[in-house]
Order: sequence, then C-alpha cells, then structure tokens
Amino acid sequence: MNQQLIEFIRDIYRTNEFIPLHAPTFAGNERDYVLQTIESTFVSSVGKFVDQFEQQIQAYTGSTRAVATVNGTAALHAALYLAGVKHGDLVLTQALTFVATCNALYHLGAQPVFIDIERASLGLCPEAMSEWLTRNAEIDDSGQCRHKASGAVIKAAMPMHTFGHPAKLDELITVCEQWHLALIEDAAESLGSFYKGQHTGTFGQFGALSFNGNKVITTGGGGMLLCRSEAEGEHAKHVTTTAKRPHPYEFFHDEPGFNYRLPNINAALGCAQLEVLPAMLANKRQLATHYARFFCNSDYVFVEEPDYASSNYWLNALICPEKRSRDELLKATNDQGVMTRPVWTLMHRLPMFTEALRGDLTNSEWLEARLVNLPSSPTETFNA
Ligand SMILES: *Cc1c(COP(=O)(O)O)cnc(C)c1O
Repeated sequence: MNQQLIEFIRDIYRTNEFIPLHAPTFAGNERDYVLQTIESTFVSSVGKFVDQFEQQIQAYTGSTRAVATVNGTAALHAALYLAGVKHGDLVLTQALTFVATCNALYHLGAQPVFIDIERASLGLCPEAMSEWLTRNAEIDDSGQCRHKASGAVIKAAMPMHTFGHPAKLDELITVCEQWHLALIEDAAESLGSFYKGQHTGTFGQFGALSFNGNKVITTGGGGMLLCRSEAEGEHAKHVTTTAKRPHPYEFFHDEPGFNYRLPNINAALGCAQLEVLPAMLANKRQLATHYARFFCNSDYVFVEEPDYASSNYWLNALICPEKRSRDELLKATNDQGVMTRPVWTLMHRLPMFTEALRGDLTNSEWLEARLVNLPSSPTETFNA
C-alpha cells in the first residue's frame, strides 16, 4: 500500500523532488500588487489593499463585516476578547485542534474545556458538548452558564472546522442557545468551505480566518475577523487598531488596543490570491476525488466532506486501520520525500493544558492514533 501510495502521489505532482504537505502558488497578480504597495510607499497599516481585501472577503463569505488582522491567532484572540471572555472563564473547544485555538484562550487567562469531536466531520460533537454541560453546568439567576464545581463562568464554545470540513453548526448553535454560550468559530482552515450553502465563520458571533503560508490562500501572514453585526464589526476594527477616537489631530484612546492590523503589503498578496481562489478550490476538490478513488477498496478511510457541506479540502486526511499502519505510512512516505504528517498531539497532552477540564475524548484519541494528512498543494498554478 505505502509504495503504491508514494507512486500515486508522485504521479499526481509529476515530480521526483520533495513533495510538501501544502505549498502556496503565486502565478497571478501577486508581484504586481505587492510592487504597487512599494511604489506607493503604502506598505504598512493603512492602504487601499487592506480595505479591498476586507471588502472582498466580506463579499465572498457573506459576512456582515470583515476586519483584517496580522494572523489567525490574533483574529481568535480579538474575537474572544470582543465576545467578553475574561480571566478565569471557561470555553468549550476541541482537544483535536491546532494549538493556536487554545493559545488564544491562554493569553486571555481563560481555560479550555476539551470536548470530543465527531468522527465524520472531525469537528466539535454537539452531543458530547450537551452531555458535558448537562453533567457539569447550570444557568445561574442572572442567566449566566456556570461550571457547578468551581462556579467559573462558561462563556463560549469554539468549534474548529478541521482541515476545512464544516462542523455540525445547526446542532452546535442549538446547544449554545440552550446554555447561553457565545459561539466563536475557528474557521482558520476553512476559507472556501460552506455549511448548507453558508460560509463557515459567519454562523457565530465571531469567526476567524487565517492566511498563513500553508493555508488555502496566503498573505504571508494574516487573518480575518468575521463579525455578525455592524456594531461588533466597528468595535472589532476599533480594538484591533489602537482604539483611537477619531479626531483630526488629538490622540485619545478609549480602551486597550491590540494593534493587530494587517499591513497593506500583505493585503496586496491576499487580493491577488483571492482572484485565483475559485480555480484553486476546484483543483483541490479534484485532488480529493483522486485520493478518495485510490483508497476506496482498501481498509484505509479517506475523509470526505460531510453530506451537509462543501469543503475546501484544505488538508487531505486519511484514517489508517490502526496505529501500526499509520506509523508505517508516515515512515515510508517521509523517508522517500513525500511529506505526510500525523494529526496534532491532543491539546490535553501539552504541558500548558494538562490541568484543563475535559469530557470523554474517545473519538479524539481514536483519531489521534490513526489520522494522517496527505500532500494537498494544488497540482497547478493559476493566473488571474
Ligand atoms: C492556522 C490555524 C490558526 C492560526 O492561524 P495563524 O495565522 O497561523 O495564526 C488557528 N487555528 C487553526 C485551527 C489553524 O489551523
């Protein structure tokens, strides 16, 4: 199997060189737009590409307001702050995620509560969340959800759309409403992924996108905060800059600002990348179809989009029959220059989160031992 897989992947990418997991392509207007920022001297925190990038992401995702940030972690940090997450609060999230999800909580002094994921979508499981809350939470007289044992406020739930596959949003929203929790979507991996026709990251009070170099499209480093209302969007813009009250010359700042602004030079790259996003997504979908066909008569399960969703297939994922075959696959492919990766170490095993509360994590642990990511770069480059 492993040798056939390596040949199959080499065939797809038509190369004997090293094949990375996900590499960006710049064959459109990237050079032109970046050069424009240099020639205009507007490379920094203001410029036309920042406004244009925000507007284009807003239009593409159907978000009420999109606010560009310096990276996806910054967008998450600001989202949690804006949703009112405070020191000592608890936020329900996944143990199977990239560490940035939890780092954003850590820096607010909030604590994650790790809830299991669903095997089909790899996203936060609404039933597991409901079960943990029923056992451990209550709503106090002021309508606040609290952890019964400690009295801590349970402020929000933060599902992550793993590898671009949308989580079960309708059901998650129902549980959030029942327990008075804010919903914040870590949509860092899911630009171009739609849940029942609506873009991921636009269901919650806030959503966060990432444009890091390994994501579907890149700005070098960058992120976007998707906001559900105009008022929240205004506030997001205010705090992600310097929280300065508008005035022709006086400096007055009315709350602590993050200065998480995306530089214009990065936004220029983003505007060019957005022009080729549809072609890129079509190509990635085709690649996923090839993988699905390759594995269809084997005991390996290729992860396909949930039936309610259209995924961007950011990182292709495979579930091996057991840990041993997973380990063999990782070794054979990486030894031969075809990059594959195990899924992230579960968050509750990391030193900074070992003390965090958690529910049953059967599915997360099962997948941790079996899941690998396969090379997922687009197989062509795209012109605007
Ligand atoms: C990439 C990613 C982030 C953070 O994005 P950066 O732009 O690298 O800060 C957050 N959460 C998840 C799940 C990610 O994959």
